Amino acid sequence: MIQNLVTGGAGFLGSHLCDRLIERGEDVLCVDNFFTGSKRNVVHLLDHSSFELMRHDVTFPLYVEVERIYNLACPASPVHYQHDPVQTTKTSVHGAINMLGLAKRVKARILQASTSEVYGDPLVHPQPEDYWGNVNTIGTRSCYDEGKRCAETLFFDYHRQHALQIKVMRIFNTYGPRMHPNDGRVVSNFIVQALQGEDITIYGDGQQTRSFCYVDDLIDAMLRLMDSRADFTGPVNIGNPIEFTMLALAENILKLVGGTSKLTFCPLPADDPKQRKPLIDLAQQELGWAPKVGLKDGLKETIAYFRKLLATT
Ligand code: NAD
Ligand code: UDP
Repeated sequence: MIQNLVTGGAGFLGSHLCDRLIERGEDVLCVDNFFTGSKRNVVHLLDHSSFELMRHDVTFPLYVEVERIYNLACPASPVHYQHDPVQTTKTSVHGAINMLGLAKRVKARILQASTSEVYGDPLVHPQPEDYWGNVNTIGTRSCYDEGKRCAETLFFDYHRQHALQIKVMRIFNTYGPRMHPNDGRVVSNFIVQALQGEDITIYGDGQQTRSFCYVDDLIDAMLRLMDSRADFTGPVNIGNPIEFTMLALAENILKLVGGTSKLTFCPLPADDPKQRKPLIDLAQQELGWAPKVGLKDGLKETIAYFRKLLATT
């Protein structure tokens, strides 16, 4: 039975990954400091004999015996990662060093949850993996962007210097059930606002674009990447290449939720990328992966989740 460590396992993506690993009959050690994640996301796994939950901060060393490490620990929403930016950089950089050190000691294969933010506010569109990006080093998003870029550097240096088996996954905007209702990300914000009959907050003119991947597709790609041939390191883009403006996203959500919400226009946050869309040819070739869930179906599942959550809290 494969022994997995999932850091950030009580978060949005991490908890879905834990579910899938347990379904596959594997062992999971879920490590989280509960900064943005919650026990509620994994409570249904707590009685499972193959699942273990440990409160731990990855900026401190961890001594466990595992075969595969999925390094997801890091707040992902701008509101949360800007709350304590020094801790965000530490989580990415010290967290990567600690998890890579662990992987080296126990000879584990290790996957890094990197991000499309390594491309910054991209001047090349859509983004291929060999684009080096356009990132501000001193802005309010830099703690996340540069932390994740440095983590990628560390992964490749451990690979070259210590022959570690690494997998670097550049995740584009992903949404679905178990997103934090107050984390400020656009999909959760718009759905919660629509369900509560509040105004939908469009930042800027709403013409900026993102490409939204449903969580089940994303986890499918993550598992394929971890299982991929030993010499495939990535970085590989994983996301849904269908691009929407934020105005179009708001319209889609309002149509599905119904209700009386109006659009309200708010200032655009600093360094907000104007456009984002992955090229996924590499994922298709190497992993045989392409997203299957369209925006409408994914939003329906996510809206149902938030409807239930808001009714019980
Ligand atoms: P999330 O905030 O729901 O999950 C992150 C988890 O990490 C939380 O459970 C949090 O408590 C935990 N965590 C934070 N700091 C920690 C620390 N120092 N030690 C231990 N645990 C810590 O976010 P998510 O959307 O599930 O993102 C998971 C990973 O995927 C992150 O690394 C993120 O950067 C990456 N990612 C996500 C997206 C997306 O759209 N969801 C896009 C790009 C990259
Ligand atoms: N956004 C918005 N209204 C909101 C929250 C976000 O218009 O209530 C915009 C935000 O300015 C950005 C896009 O939606 O252009 C995606 O934001 P999110 O925080 O979800 O992710 P990221 O910027 O990291 O892609």
